Amino acid sequence: LVVVTDVNKHFGELHVLKNINAQVNRGEVVVVIGPSGSGKSTLCRAINRLETIDDGVISIDGQVLPAEGKALAHLRADVGMVFQSFNLFAHKTVLENVTLGPIKVRGVSRREAEARAMQLLERVGVANQAKKMPAQLSGGQQQRVAIARALAMDPKVILLDEPTSALDPEMINEVLEVMIDLANDGMTMIVVTHEMGFARKAADRVIFMADGEIVEEATPEEFFTTPRSTRAKDFLSKLL
Ligand code: ATP
Ligand code: MG
Repeated sequence: LVVVTDVNKHFGELHVLKNINAQVNRGEVVVVIGPSGSGKSTLCRAINRLETIDDGVISIDGQVLPAEGKALAHLRADVGMVFQSFNLFAHKTVLENVTLGPIKVRGVSRREAEARAMQLLERVGVANQAKKMPAQLSGGQQQRVAIARALAMDPKVILLDEPTSALDPEMINEVLEVMIDLANDGMTMIVVTHEMGFARKAADRVIFMADGEIVEEATPEEFFTTPRSTRAKDFLSKLL
């Protein structure tokens, strides 16, 4: 579904993505882990073209991502994105946050968008917050709204970049539970996270990045019990 071929990216002199090749199949949950600065966020952003790439090809469902324009807006709508810092529209209600995309980008009627939004808010457990402003919600609630907002576009894949790392500990689980529920439901997901419990429970595959390279790809079972590379072993020893 998502195919990344020979992608390179520099920030000035810094080579942040080094000939990245990766593939995510429909219904697959891929967890990306690795040390800070290894290029995980840049890769996610590149997949959504929030970041340009120097060379290589990224395609979503067989369609090559164009660099800009209307075609990009359309393809981008197929890729849901959830960030570490919720990024909800602060001056819109929870409900409006979830209905805006479908109305503006997908051309769905307001009534239809609201009905669907309420279902999604129900699903992530915050339907009773629909009329509130984002700032009136806890971090965990805001992040669940952000997930509902991503889902409202009926994306083919959703990317979550450290969705729980800005949360207070007691709120992490409520967000992870929503993510596990999505994974069990067959959603195609790319998740950058340091939550190894989530990786063990929900990931079909782990991609380990270091210094802009994909160093290792394995099932969670293999990766956590018998990492092959020295860098992965080092990383895991510091984590556990
Ligand atoms: P973390 O775990 O800390 O989130 P990461 O793996 O997501 O790290 P990236 O955010 O992708 O890493 O960053 C990769 C490298 O690119 C880092 O060295 C970072 O400093 C650099 N970088 C990221 N964004 C920019 C930018 N806009 N301009 C210049 N350098 C950048
Ligand atoms: Mg990052």
